[in-house]
Amino acid sequence: MTDTVEARVQALPPLRNVIAASRLSARKSLAQNFLLDLNLTRKIARAAGPIDRGTTIEIGPGPGGLTRALLLEGAAQVIAVERDSRAISALSDLEVAADGRLTLIEGDALKMPVATLGSPPRRLVANLPYNIATRLIIDWLRERQSFESITVMVQKEVGLRLCAEAGDTDYGRLSIITQWLAEAKLLFDVPAAAFTPSPKVTSSLLRLVPHAEPLFPANRKTLEMITAAAFGQRRKMLRGSLRKLGGKDLLAEAKINSTDRPETLSIGDFCRLSNVYDART
Ligand code: SAM
Repeated sequence: MTDTVEARVQALPPLRNVIAASRLSARKSLAQNFLLDLNLTRKIARAAGPIDRGTTIEIGPGPGGLTRALLLEGAAQVIAVERDSRAISALSDLEVAADGRLTLIEGDALKMPVATLGSPPRRLVANLPYNIATRLIIDWLRERQSFESITVMVQKEVGLRLCAEAGDTDYGRLSIITQWLAEAKLLFDVPAAAFTPSPKVTSSLLRLVPHAEPLFPANRKTLEMITAAAFGQRRKMLRGSLRKLGGKDLLAEAKINSTDRPETLSIGDFCRLSNVYDART
């Protein structure tokens, strides 16, 4: 075999050995559920789109199953941000094998300027720590211009909420903000048994492709406030849940029936409501 990065990555010890040697027993506090099946992690890496250009940013590489897959699938440059110092040590052999194509950063992804890491085009790929997944995704969408795509493993329940359409039971504030800013799609489910240790839930791979411009003009803070108020009391009619924000008058001006419930309104309706609210205040 020639001495390519691919060959060197393939020659590394199995992930289970790496975990044992570096005492990387999974910690619940860091939402550590590892993927050790290289066929699956390669499928995730391929779903991320063309990674042979620019930078692939991985959050939470852990023992490196997905990181190996990204390199094997031809990622030009991987920057991996990991909070657990044990994982950073466990990844040192992979960093050597990657011959400059992998940069490890020890740190908290919630506090990291992820959108400016490496050079564009940037693609974000991760088997996310589920306890902070929604926060991370919403933060990244604030800087969506920085990313070509965001391809992440999340709890299926979270994925369904982000991708839900008006009328669906999962439709809510997160669906609206997410799809206002990006095209959201669930690619495939991954059963709990595919993870070590197994979480209690089914997971799904979610792909977000940011829109160049939000779907409709609106002020993000106002849209967040209106949707929070509307879905905070989702069984109430809008004239009740939006009473403090203008109630019936606001709804009439936005040409929305005051007896409607929030799950029947489209993203465009919510943007119109936000704009009318802003014009009135
Ligand atoms: N990518 C690995 C895999 O698929 O096997 C591990 C995925 S595991 C679900 C989540 C990873 O995120 C863990 O390695 C954990 O240590 C890391 N993590 C948790 N919180 C983090 C944070 N705030 N910043 C960066 N990494 C974090």
